[in-house]
Amino acid sequence: MKVSIPKEEIEEIKKRYECDEPKAIKAYLDAKKVSEEAFDDELSRQLGPKAQEEKWQTPIYTPRQIKEHLDKYVIGQEKYKKRLSIASAFHFAILRHLYENPEESKVKRFRKKNTIISGPSGSGKTYSVEVLGDLLEVPTLIVDATDYTEAGYVGKSSDDMIRELIDMAPGGSRQEKADFVNRYGGIIFIDEIDKKAKDRNLVGHDISREGFQRAVLKLIERKYVSIENPYSPVSQFKEAIRQTQKGKRQDMISTEKILFIVGGSFQRPHSDLENIVKERIKHKAGRFREDGSIMVMGFGNPETEDKKTIMNYYKEANADDYIRFGLLPELVGRIPIRSYVNLLSKNDLVRIMRDTEDSIIHQYEMEFKAFNIDLNVQEQAIEYIAGLAENKKTGARALVSVWETILTDFQFELPGSNFKELAVSEELCRAPHDALLKMLKRSPFLDYIEGFKREYGIELVMDNKVEEYVENFAKENEVQVSDALKQLLKGASSINYMNHKGKFKITTRMLEEPKYFDGLFTRWYQKTHKKCAEEEKK
Ligand code: ADP
Repeated sequence: MKVSIPKEEIEEIKKRYECDEPKAIKAYLDAKKVSEEAFDDELSRQLGPKAQEEKWQTPIYTPRQIKEHLDKYVIGQEKYKKRLSIASAFHFAILRHLYENPEESKVKRFRKKNTIISGPSGSGKTYSVEVLGDLLEVPTLIVDATDYTEAGYVGKSSDDMIRELIDMAPGGSRQEKADFVNRYGGIIFIDEIDKKAKDRNLVGHDISREGFQRAVLKLIERKYVSIENPYSPVSQFKEAIRQTQKGKRQDMISTEKILFIVGGSFQRPHSDLENIVKERIKHKAGRFREDGSIMVMGFGNPETEDKKTIMNYYKEANADDYIRFGLLPELVGRIPIRSYVNLLSKNDLVRIMRDTEDSIIHQYEMEFKAFNIDLNVQEQAIEYIAGLAENKKTGARALVSVWETILTDFQFELPGSNFKELAVSEELCRAPHDALLKMLKRSPFLDYIEGFKREYGIELVMDNKVEEYVENFAKENEVQVSDALKQLLKGASSINYMNHKGKFKITTRMLEEPKYFDGLFTRWYQKTHKKCAEEEKK
């Protein structure tokens, strides 16, 4: 943006404050910003709320309606979705009720349904909250606990969360946005809270982690937070004005209106939540089986994976278990609702890809359609991809990377070509590059040779014998021919570093001997350096 700075005014400031020009310009711009914001605030204070009331109306839903919406996007995780639906439906309905009936409400301090959620990564903890926020049309802030420190340490302070939430609200000025949150509320999801748990294995105080938990506790306990960063020039200016207006505290926001959800995988090398629960259960003889297992639909425990016992200890985690993990008892006490998510199975991953409202397959179909190409994904391909993603053990997060790896070359080559359809079969997923070359009627050998020439300027020559060798290698190792070439000619780039010019013939011996090119390079290096040394001696 272009800002014009009136020369006379700068001259005036320079004279009045006896300062140099850069200082005067900076001060001029800062002061201008402060006065513009104050101007906006005053306008909205006098004229805003009325217009705002008509403009903004957040919808109120029943728990069932919310759950039905979540079901369209989030596969499985029934218990969590239900808990979340109840917590949010009641939270926002109560806010509305208190706003509309201030005289009627006897409960000045309602018990909020703050929620803690544990379970493996990538299984929908955060995603469910995102979907929820979209439906409820309230500002929804998702933060990572590891980005924050307690106030006073370097980094962001926990109060900044509230200010970031306010920034997400509709409205022109900060004050308008804060009014929105004060009236309609908001949601803050603090992810990775487990990374701020005290670690028993650490010697000494764990001040920073515990401090963060205390700061979150303060936020949850209906603390008033200034809507401006207290150290910013804007807020200091406003504070000065406020003092002249007999201390009216308009610029504070009560965190009472915010529903807090904290979550994490609660996994760590020595004492993760699962182990803590398991230990506790083990000591309660009689109620559970000898090995402490409870048969539930859930996910495998590494220790018993060979027996294929399926169990989910997160499900059984109580307040004490969270405290034993390292959360502050006071914080756990303020978060009355506990829930869990299950590890996603291969079947879940198939459904996530295929059956959700924002299914990844629909997204890719749309992307290709934008270039007039019909993408037809076959059922076996979906199963195959779900299997690959499941093995990565990062929940549904792996799906995007698996899909991208398979489709990248097609995304590059097909737009603008004559192809109007791409059938994604299991075979294509297993060997995408080969499948693309087949489509383009290109030999993988020619493709490799051309790529090599583009990168190093050297033309490789391969005869039938070499091609046969590579094809057999690919078959035996169940890899695509293009990958076999990459693997077998891994060291070939050293030809470039040997300053080779022109064509270079590849022989089967080079492919059979994995270190062939390394040896070639070492011999060349020793020879050239010896020659240089001799020349230097002369
Ligand atoms: P976490 O449990 O670690 O918070 P996320 O909720 O961030 O994991 O999941 C990562 C991504 O995986 C989401 O953005 C979403 O696309 C997908 N995903 C995860 N779990 C599910 C699920 N149960 N149903 C549908 N999509 C899911």
